Amino acid sequence: MKEYTTVAMETCRKSGAGYADIRIIDMSTEILGVRNGELSRIVNYRSLGYGIRVLVNGAWGFASSAGLDRTGIAAAAAKAVEIARASAKKINKKVRLAPEPAYVDRWQSPYLIDPFKVSVEEKIQLLFAVDEILRKNKKVKGAEATLNFAKERQWFASSEGAFIDQEILRSGAGMEAEVSDGHEVQRRSFPCTGGQFVQGGYEVVSAMKLLENAEKTREEAVSLLSAKPCPSGEKELIILGSQLALQIHESIGHATELDRVLGLEANYAGRSFVTLEKKGKFQYGSKLMNIVADSTCPTGLATFGYDDDGVRAQRYHVIKEGAFQTYLTNREFAHEIKEDHSRGCCRAEGWSNIPIVRMPNLSLMPGNCKLDELIADTKDGIMVDGVKCWSIDQYRYNFQFGMEIGWEIKKGKITGMIKDPTYQGITPEFWGGLNAICDNDHWVLWGVPNCGKGQPGQTAEMSHGTAPSRFSKVKVGVQNR
Ligand SMILES: [Zn+2]
Repeated sequence: MKEYTTVAMETCRKSGAGYADIRIIDMSTEILGVRNGELSRIVNYRSLGYGIRVLVNGAWGFASSAGLDRTGIAAAAAKAVEIARASAKKINKKVRLAPEPAYVDRWQSPYLIDPFKVSVEEKIQLLFAVDEILRKNKKVKGAEATLNFAKERQWFASSEGAFIDQEILRSGAGMEAEVSDGHEVQRRSFPCTGGQFVQGGYEVVSAMKLLENAEKTREEAVSLLSAKPCPSGEKELIILGSQLALQIHESIGHATELDRVLGLEANYAGRSFVTLEKKGKFQYGSKLMNIVADSTCPTGLATFGYDDDGVRAQRYHVIKEGAFQTYLTNREFAHEIKEDHSRGCCRAEGWSNIPIVRMPNLSLMPGNCKLDELIADTKDGIMVDGVKCWSIDQYRYNFQFGMEIGWEIKKGKITGMIKDPTYQGITPEFWGGLNAICDNDHWVLWGVPNCGKGQPGQTAEMSHGTAPSRFSKVKVGVQNR
């Protein structure tokens, strides 16, 4: 690949670029789905191309193209420089990149079984078997099982001398049963809504035990039809796995992306209440709250050797014992918060997009209790699981969530299932009420494969580690029924 990256760097240098980088990306994707006894999705595609980013007089220029040939690369490099040169006439502030060593390295995510080498027949057989179990009840109107695999090979080279070769393999799987009794519709998914995604190979799919959990998933969905409605009022709230992951994603992850804080990104519930003066001074939540950004943790969707700025993967506290520490940054914005290095949060979707500030894996560190102890210690509460719907305001401050399923807890015992549970809160008050977190045995990294950001929109993936956690005095059951 060096022959191609050299053409790009040479062209950029000769055309007067102060800084340049190229990402060559070869991406393979396979998506398979079975719905109601029929093959619903069979997608297999490969995408190869490159994106060249340059700085001329402190302004960015970017150009990209599919394919891979020297003439095309030279033309794209010249175009990127031309765009940057034109942009330089209009900028108020010159881009300044935080220093980073020029790494020459190779990094690969570990896996046991390459899913692209497992026959499509074997994969589809699994999906049909899961789908059949899901439909063994007349109330099931929609059953679906899916598999999703992506292999991304990326070569990054910069004018500073970096040359980084990375290979990442991600695997996802999941199922969902939708039931109806003619009056209402309920659904239940497994392992979580939209499926669980992790870095790893086909061994990940076997470990999820879809077949073994299909009956339970179906029966929980059916039981929801006759479950009690969610009680309303202020309750103790125990949030399980993937729902807590979404809570972290929306009320901490996006809120601490520095480009949103600076007002440079405002799409998708855009800006942030975590304004600059709060750095190092703001109590985000209770003392139990430790939120760690970690691009080094095994199986995380945003685990890598280096980000798209060529910055090495890092692990650091965003929130320590409830106190806000720092923002998610890239090389361009680090100096805006007087930091001398990037926090390694720069990524782009594929080869045709310019990198932007992106959440890494962001997790709530585990506590020290067991789930049964937590339930036994809860006098009047509800426990919820399964993402159904959510909304959050423009500053990531007020939010509300609806889940697939809940259980009522009275005097330390689960007294029954509840349907359509909801809760709402204000970010710092809600996290201030965090009063118990289950231990490491309960801790799971939940994958978010479809985080949307930017304009033109880009999709990125990351994971959030959570163990069941309890929050005090949360408004639950607020709904219009
Ligand atoms: Zn997102």
